[in-house]
Amino acid sequence: MKAAFEVPKEIDYRTIGLRVGLEIHQQLDTKTKLFCNCPTRIVSEEELKAAPRIVRYLRATKSELGEVDAAAAFEQLRGRTFVYLAPPSACCLVELDEEPPHELNKEALIIALAIAKALNAKIVDEVHVMRKIVIDGSNTTGFQRTAIIAYDGYIDDEEGRVRIATISLEEDAARKIEERDNVVIYSLDRMGIPLIEISTGPDMKTPEQVKRVAERIGLLMRLTGKVKRGIGTIRQDINLSIEGSPKIEIKGVQRLELLPKVVENEVRRLVGLKMIAEELKRRGASEHEVLSQPIVDVTDVLKDCQSKLIQNALKRGARVLAVKLPKFDGLLGVELQPNRRFGTELADYAKQWAGVKGLIHSDELPSYGITEDYVEKLKNVLGVGPLDAFVLIVDEEHRARRALEVVKQRAAMAITGIPRETRAANEDGTTRYMRPQPGAARMYPETDVPPIKIDDAILREVEKLVPPTPEEKLESLIRNYGLSKDLALQLLHSEYLKLFEEIVARHRGLDPRIVASVFTTIAGELKKEGFDISILNDDTFHALFNVVAKYSLGKDVVKELLKMIVRGELRTLNEIEEYIQRSMMSLDEVREIVSSIMDELSNIIAQKRERAFSTIMGKVMARLRGRVDGKIVAQIVREELERRLKSVS
Ligand SMILES: [Zn+2]
Repeated sequence: MKAAFEVPKEIDYRTIGLRVGLEIHQQLDTKTKLFCNCPTRIVSEEELKAAPRIVRYLRATKSELGEVDAAAAFEQLRGRTFVYLAPPSACCLVELDEEPPHELNKEALIIALAIAKALNAKIVDEVHVMRKIVIDGSNTTGFQRTAIIAYDGYIDDEEGRVRIATISLEEDAARKIEERDNVVIYSLDRMGIPLIEISTGPDMKTPEQVKRVAERIGLLMRLTGKVKRGIGTIRQDINLSIEGSPKIEIKGVQRLELLPKVVENEVRRLVGLKMIAEELKRRGASEHEVLSQPIVDVTDVLKDCQSKLIQNALKRGARVLAVKLPKFDGLLGVELQPNRRFGTELADYAKQWAGVKGLIHSDELPSYGITEDYVEKLKNVLGVGPLDAFVLIVDEEHRARRALEVVKQRAAMAITGIPRETRAANEDGTTRYMRPQPGAARMYPETDVPPIKIDDAILREVEKLVPPTPEEKLESLIRNYGLSKDLALQLLHSEYLKLFEEIVARHRGLDPRIVASVFTTIAGELKKEGFDISILNDDTFHALFNVVAKYSLGKDVVKELLKMIVRGELRTLNEIEEYIQRSMMSLDEVREIVSSIMDELSNIIAQKRERAFSTIMGKVMARLRGRVDGKIVAQIVREELERRLKSVS
């Protein structure tokens, strides 16, 4: 891959003027949804399969100011059909937009206000529900209901105070199940679950600060004990700028650990785009020249080349279209994020706006079976000079043509700098182009829901829910459950804190330290071994700890049980209990096995004496793991070893 220069990997965030704001969305754990009486639960796959389907189309409408919203128009251009699955146990006529919304859910309001208080925010006198236009079909109404409930708060961080601009209560969007061709399938079970949205000021200055602040806000929310946990229950959006760049929005970071990486990668992209703009100016590139380039059909030039990609496409009736990008040589290959080059940015636009699969650019050629000879032929036909680049698209002609028009436009933008974009976070912490940023005219009042006055009765309820500070909570975990400071700290930061307290309260006779370590260290160890306990629900944990309490099981056994549960080998309380009854060994059986293994190891015992302990333990546990607690085995081995050593001497 050819590249005119490299974007520095080490960036001094202070000198480039980084400013980051966060928008944190967290599902609240209420009994019912925000505007109806449906429960706030995600249905099983079987139920989803059997759910009725409703088909809708989306049309861009003029806002009250008379202009069509740019982002809405963009979605319509893509001409998609939306299918909604409506599982009857988790949605009603309100989600289908066939019945007006009910009153705003008071329980949700009170939880959100308690979180607002923990964030030092000022509470509004009256809550007014608004409609915010959504353009991706994720709501059957075409808008999302949202209400500001507090504003002007702050949290303190070691790198400075971060303002909390607004706190809103809103309905969650429908859950995307599948997207193919021009059809998007959503499930309505998630739609309407109450979300709190916390928007900070653009006050964070380093990736590490972003992580700390998000962590602190997440912790304060969890300390109310009234928020949901698990994948998809919390989502973070980032807005970010550096000096001389517009504000970039990045949607949908689901994992907290990813936040600093996304910020680092996005900053590198912006720095790289600034360098590309400077280089283009130095080379004398002009927007007009780029935009006026003709799109050339080069199918004949390539019709005999050995490229499989091209030959296969030609068989399907596709054409190869090309455009020259004057003064762009070596710039399409510049890496802006790991494995994402400026060429990838052009490809993102072409994919999103024209629906092509991708593009081929001159900095990556020769490649794809297109040899140097053919590259030279293409350069001749397109009139490509030493400083110029070109882009090829292989697709149906009308689509390829539209894609190249978009490529020209995106390339022209690079000369003036950085376009204002909404981007999506990828799983690896890079970002990709999603759509243009929506215009300002996106909110209007929801007349179906009456305003709610925040009176003293509500405020008294809120006061009861305001969470303790993290420091107070840590103290009480140590005091009430006898946890070590380290374990208490891990538990405090884990999303299982609330479940831990419920389990210890419900199942008498449990050692809180074992429960706490299951949710912290053991969960971590299991994750490393490829077992993710976050897929398990609260009921499963209750079933497990019910058995743990009844049979006084130790950590080792619990760990083995968890593996079997994650693998789907044990599912219900009965299955777990039967397994334990079947497989737990009596102490006599354990002694027998220990004794026979020690017979086998008698030479080693004679040689190493007390130091043979770990060898014996290793052998015994290899045989008994999951059937008896390691602590008990160790005790038996120690006794037996002592007895044998005494009898020889
Ligand atoms: Zn409903």
